[in-house]
Amino acid sequence: MKTVGVVLSAVVTLAACSTARQPVSNDASERQRIAGEAVRTAPRRAPAWRCAPDLPSPMPSPATRAERTGFCETTSYEEAMAFLDTVRLKAAPNRIMRLTRLGVSSRGRPLIAVTVCARSSRTAADCDQLMAAPRRRPVVLLQANIHAGEVEGKEAVLALLRTVVTDAKPNLLDSLTLIVIPMYNADGNEALGPQSRNRTAQLGPAVIGERANGAGLDLNRDYIKAEAPETRAMLPMLTNGSVDVFVDLHTTNGSYHGYTLTWSPSLHPGAPLAAFTGDTLLTGIRRRLEQRGVKTYAYGNFSDSYAREVTLDAKKEGWFTYDSRPRFGSNYFGLTGGVSVLSEAYSHDPFGVRVRSTDAFIRELLGTIGADPTILARVTATRRALASGIAARGLVLETQLTTSPRQDDVLVEALEADPDSLLAEPGVPPGIRRTGRIAPQRLAVRDRFDPTRVTTVPPGGWLVEAADTALLTLLARHGVEVRARVPGSAALSVERFYLDSVQRSPRAFQGHREVRLFGHWVALRMKPSPDWRWVPAAQRQLLVAAQLLEPQSNDGATTWNLFDERLRMGKYHPVLRLLTRTATR
Ligand SMILES: [Zn+2]
Repeated sequence: MKTVGVVLSAVVTLAACSTARQPVSNDASERQRIAGEAVRTAPRRAPAWRCAPDLPSPMPSPATRAERTGFCETTSYEEAMAFLDTVRLKAAPNRIMRLTRLGVSSRGRPLIAVTVCARSSRTAADCDQLMAAPRRRPVVLLQANIHAGEVEGKEAVLALLRTVVTDAKPNLLDSLTLIVIPMYNADGNEALGPQSRNRTAQLGPAVIGERANGAGLDLNRDYIKAEAPETRAMLPMLTNGSVDVFVDLHTTNGSYHGYTLTWSPSLHPGAPLAAFTGDTLLTGIRRRLEQRGVKTYAYGNFSDSYAREVTLDAKKEGWFTYDSRPRFGSNYFGLTGGVSVLSEAYSHDPFGVRVRSTDAFIRELLGTIGADPTILARVTATRRALASGIAARGLVLETQLTTSPRQDDVLVEALEADPDSLLAEPGVPPGIRRTGRIAPQRLAVRDRFDPTRVTTVPPGGWLVEAADTALLTLLARHGVEVRARVPGSAALSVERFYLDSVQRSPRAFQGHREVRLFGHWVALRMKPSPDWRWVPAAQRQLLVAAQLLEPQSNDGATTWNLFDERLRMGKYHPVLRLLTRTATR
């Protein structure tokens, strides 16, 4: 038992998953410490996963590498491209499949998007007619492999494409248009290594890619700063209003719970459809999947502190979600007014099981979206309101994990002491073993964030400096509308943020030391200047513009060091809030 005590006091480090390792501390530096790459040291011993082949019967054609190997191996980039070519050649006459090159990865691999739809009299040549106004069908974007060691999303979407494209019988393509990114992080997918190194807590495959992209960046922390070529290639699709529903496919880590998949809406409290997505759409899907024996729940872990999740403690601290900031893709997309869904297959399930649970979740989600026209109507109405300058909750700049959790039964798997530590499996510390005994525990469920700093929408929007080309480039990448001048020549009412202090993170994160500002606003009258550029409030990207521009946003241009020089030299922030209501159309 002494051994176990030592083990439990040791820091048990698991390869950080997409979100599983995101802590929810409200202290920014603590959060960065936990979220940073510094925690990616290997556990003391990470046993290799041994595959028991589980061959599909009958074997589909074409088959993915995962299917051909009985879910012992995962598909390479070249194999995925060849698979897609074969599927396109075998497309049923009533289906359209188009491959689009969105951009190129850091190491030169084309980033491919697959668009598929039903062929009809309106779609003789391609799917665009079904995606343009007045369109009648929702557009769903499935993104896989952002963390390239988390491979079941890639395998599930390839197989799904084969099914819906080659089968002429009525299927989900008759009710929606699908865009699939099967391999968002292509360079990571090809950076192969043993599971015991790249995904220490994951039950297979034995050889997998790595989390970072070819330039060492975590793509799921890059949606605001947009430094990676993959992010830059992808942002136009996320921001131009063509996609209604975004689904980001991942794998968990850490806690041993009783769910085959966990999910989350956008956790940003300013995301207009987050509550609908979590409390209605995903909760309904959970209920229907459960009737078929597929257990899912809101994403979380048993602790909000790093490395305290895999223990022998019978009583858990609670159920904690991850982070609300829009540097994460599913949080970001919520700010565009769409429906955003994070999917996390359970890393402690074998690879083949994870592919099947991801597939079941995606199909139930797509079926629901296709069958319920009110979902598309909600997205359309939300984006129309944003384009009019209306943000229902105001502009949420800072958040904290909710302080009013709900009580719910959460399924917990018991772990027990194991004197024969040689039997340890991936993700289980030496001296501990899984029992397979899963029981509900009544826990405080913290699966959402509350706003702690909210501001009003400035009636006219924001004014930025024309000379600030880095900022203007970033705004353009995010699809934020910027105009050359404010209409009229009369003096304008503006607000300027005067700095009291500038806090810089002591630790680097993704190559940055994040900045946080404290200060106060001063109202001024100013004549319009040709040195300004105008960011109107009335635009579809209102919430993203606010996130980027507001000096006290917790994840914006200030955070990621775009203004560092001027924050040192000047006494005020270079972005002005424009209070004068202006003609916007
Ligand atoms: Zn992930």
